[in-house]
Amino acid sequence: MLTISVTVTKEKEVYSVTGNEELGSFPLYSQEEVDHSIQKANQAQKKWAKTEVYKRADILHDWADRLAAKKEQIGEMISKEVGKNRSSAVKEVVRTADLIRYTAEEGCRIHGDMLRGDSFRGGSSKKMAMVEREPLGVVLAISPFNYPVNLAASKIAPALMAGNAVVFKPASQGALSGQLMIEALLETELHHDTVQCITGKGSEIGDFLVTHPQVSMITFTGSTATGQSISKKANMIPVVLELGGKDPAIVLDDADLDLAADQIVSGAFSYSGQRCTAIKRVLVDEKVADKLSEKIAQKVDGLTVGNPEDDAVVTPLIDPNAADFVQGLIDDALQNGAELVTGNKREGNLIYPTLLDHVLPHMKVAWEEPFGPVLPIIRVQDEADLVSIANESDYGLQASVFTANVQKAMDIGAKLNVGSVQYNAKTERGPDHFPFLGAKNSGLGSQGIRRSIESMTRDKLFVLNM
Ligand code: NAD
Repeated sequence: MLTISVTVTKEKEVYSVTGNEELGSFPLYSQEEVDHSIQKANQAQKKWAKTEVYKRADILHDWADRLAAKKEQIGEMISKEVGKNRSSAVKEVVRTADLIRYTAEEGCRIHGDMLRGDSFRGGSSKKMAMVEREPLGVVLAISPFNYPVNLAASKIAPALMAGNAVVFKPASQGALSGQLMIEALLETELHHDTVQCITGKGSEIGDFLVTHPQVSMITFTGSTATGQSISKKANMIPVVLELGGKDPAIVLDDADLDLAADQIVSGAFSYSGQRCTAIKRVLVDEKVADKLSEKIAQKVDGLTVGNPEDDAVVTPLIDPNAADFVQGLIDDALQNGAELVTGNKREGNLIYPTLLDHVLPHMKVAWEEPFGPVLPIIRVQDEADLVSIANESDYGLQASVFTANVQKAMDIGAKLNVGSVQYNAKTERGPDHFPFLGAKNSGLGSQGIRRSIESMTRDKLFVLNM
């Protein structure tokens, strides 16, 4: 059992997603305690910013090695705490170690610029600007429950490499996994005050954190509603937001339907669809819709359903509210004329993978983000409709286009208002050094290792007049 020990007044017990196993507890910080932690981070940052970049990289490499060595222990906690199957949870830790290593290397390659004054008409060769990238100060990193280690580290590692201190606020569901990751970091030579892990209810300490005068930048991953509220409150500081999605898989009549079905099912149902980049709707040319629906159904019926420790693909959702929400979307679609192909069975928070066909764009399941194992198929008459229905969504994270015709794929991709388009493959984040971003309500700014480091620095000009 893990107990995070800091001197705070209240504690919150954590139970496993699938049972009543008590996993440990975490402190509920008061505003006063949050303030104290931010002050300490702010002080520590001044020293950390002076630490040689190669030494920062050494510390990050050490952190990565320590995490990798604890992959089974941390994987077990992730699996129990957020209900992810064991092998995926261990993979998350290994991937995180790799992400930290790459960040350490990339952080050594962040260069500034040198500009000659006489490159601009009328300018002088005696004037020269050196543009350096300097850290911002204290970066507030707020992460969601679903990748409690990877998404948190994708903020903390670049912030540190850039010379910032970090105030890390994990989601309450996933806080213990996040804390184990931080423990591995604090075993390195990093001065402990440089990274502060603050736990508590986002709804109670969130505003205080976000508006704190010593916070210099916010990097947030989570729901669109929370992200929008944060961006309204942040006071003239940079904010990077990675939010919800409603990623479509667009299937044209010339697509390889076996490939499409395979990618769609794995994209939609892995970790029970609790991924921002999960495929959340299928838009298919009606000429091939019957065949595709049948192929997807066969694969859905072959998915393993059960507990995370059995390594099932579809496992119980994070909490009863999440399961009620998904069930509500299924019920609404069926009441409004959608056809149930398979699924619609529930045991507690476990929703069996559910495939709905003949879904119409106005039904809730066609436009709400379910964050659960339900996939609507929307049949579409022609290519123009495919694009316009895809773009009707308020979200714009990613999209997949399945076709044998690369030119068509490029043309459709160019018309889609999303952050990334995947050709003949499921939507997904990564590899982690690729830029990652969302359009519309799916985000603001870019992540991905290099982009993240850059977003956590600002230009500083030294103009030499000789
Ligand atoms: P959430 O918005 O409920 O919580 C995210 C984090 O915000 C948590 O740490 C929470 O404690 C904190 N928070 C809550 N209220 C706050 C406030 N007022 N001020 C500051 N912080 C506050 O999201 P979740 O349920 O943990 O995650 C699921 C959502 O995250 C889905 O919508 C999913 O699509 C999205 N997500 C997006 C990405 C991406 O990269 N685009 C990745 C993973 C998840």
